[in-house]
Amino acid sequence: MSQARRVSVLVAILAVLSAIPTSAYLKFGYRINGQSVVLKWPEGRPVSYVVGTRETTGVSAADFRDTIARAFATWENVPSSSIRFAPAGDTTRPLSDNDGITMLAYANRPELDRTLGATSYTIDIIAGALLEADVFFNAAFPWSAAPGGQAGRFDLESIATHEIGHLIGLGHSALGETEVVGSGRRVLSAGAVMFPIAFSPGNIDGRRLQPDDIAGISDIYPDGTFRQETGSISGRVTRGGLGVFGAHVVAMHLRTGALVGGFTLDDSGTFVLAGIEPGPVVLRVEPLDDGDVASFIEGPRVDVGFAVAFSPRAIFVPRGGNAPDVTIDVVGK
Ligand SMILES: [Zn+2]
Repeated sequence: MSQARRVSVLVAILAVLSAIPTSAYLKFGYRINGQSVVLKWPEGRPVSYVVGTRETTGVSAADFRDTIARAFATWENVPSSSIRFAPAGDTTRPLSDNDGITMLAYANRPELDRTLGATSYTIDIIAGALLEADVFFNAAFPWSAAPGGQAGRFDLESIATHEIGHLIGLGHSALGETEVVGSGRRVLSAGAVMFPIAFSPGNIDGRRLQPDDIAGISDIYPDGTFRQETGSISGRVTRGGLGVFGAHVVAMHLRTGALVGGFTLDDSGTFVLAGIEPGPVVLRVEPLDDGDVASFIEGPRVDVGFAVAFSPRAIFVPRGGNAPDVTIDVVGK
């Protein structure tokens, strides 16, 4: 009898014109026996996956299989990360949370009229390891697998790249900019593939990983030298001396402009940003007030009532080490 208890959790939908927010990569963590465990695949073997054979207008089963393979390759080709994937064929079976098979397929969900795709996990809550993940792409939307994209159709490769980011254990990044359109928001720019709102139909920018995505996957699955070649910054965000929960903290590299973000995730306002290119950075702290906080962090405790603040000076990130702790005190707005 297995000791493993399985739970299925639905996370991370990629929305079209969603009510949204703002910035940085987030690892999913689970509390197991009082300890926070990062959600990740077991090391030492590739993640095996199957694809569904369901087709949509303009995307054949072969197009689907090949497009998904390209999106996996995009993540696999990050030099500083060790994760690998192994295609294991296709199937006509429907997606199922409890078959032990990691699967990506179309499903027709017209009632989810803002959801392009979503990823669910089955995890071993004793060990914290991922057992299975399933990704559906909503067949109720128009899709394209064309190399250069197609007007009026969502780019399957872009959306698959985002969902595969979830599949490997990444949450949403708040690095992005939107504008209000009708009752939702449209993406003007995204600083990460893991930004929770999709680009408009026809756009293929979501196929290309950004520094925040690369820092995220490399932090969870570092290759041999990643930790020696990059540095980290940790510290606290406070307000009147008390920790701020749910603040968005962004490091901007002063030479390259690369953005890597994170959140304060406990009541003492502690944050850690890892995978930062060595050199000088500035930190910006901002509230998650540009839309739907729940796209990033669960819970009602998120403090969105403070003004944007910056680190008092540039911070030098050492190669292979942690910069001296930084405390940034914010004030109410
Ligand atoms: Zn998502």
